[in-house]
Amino acid sequence: SEDKKIILDSIRDIPDFPKPGIIFKDITTLLSTPDAFNTLMTHLENRYESYDLDYVAGIDARGFIFGSILADRLGVGFVPVRKKGKLPYTTVAEKYSLEYGFDEVEIHIDAFGEKEDPKVLLIDDLIATGGTAKAAANLIDKVGANCVEACFIMELAFLNGRQGFDAPVYSVLEID
Ligand code: IMP
Repeated sequence: SEDKKIILDSIRDIPDFPKPGIIFKDITTLLSTPDAFNTLMTHLENRYESYDLDYVAGIDARGFIFGSILADRLGVGFVPVRKKGKLPYTTVAEKYSLEYGFDEVEIHIDAFGEKEDPKVLLIDDLIATGGTAKAAANLIDKVGANCVEACFIMELAFLNGRQGFDAPVYSVLEID
């Protein structure tokens, strides 16, 4: 669609970042293009306004940008899923594998309040192998909330990151 073209055209490819052979999708140019940024946020608002969400949870760090704006537009709370060691209160942690070694994400144990089975949308800028987002979804589950969907601006579809996800996965742009 025209909207997706505006968004796609605002994202640039950076070859050999962070290492040789990787083409990094740089969304800073989306953020600095008001028309594309607004088109994206309105697209997400239109999709999720009927979901009756309680929270949007964003993944450190670019998921914070899209997630907090979407939460504000929908009139719900925002919850950060952070890299290890950043959150000040009691946390629950989840490790996930990288190409070499592992990484770890955390969430506050009381992040989603008192309500029974709150509905949470998980959001990040990009899904590659899916390891980060699956760990984040597990955290949402571990603290007693319901991850109703995982949303990404971009999906590197050839890496099959959506496979093995318990929650439905939605991506605005799929890259083959
Ligand atoms: P995954 O765990 O392999 O799915 O990697 C996804 C995580 O790495 C997300 O938090 C992304 O922000 C980040 N990431 C990986 N590749 C890119 C890219 O090309 N552009 C922007 N972020 C990326």
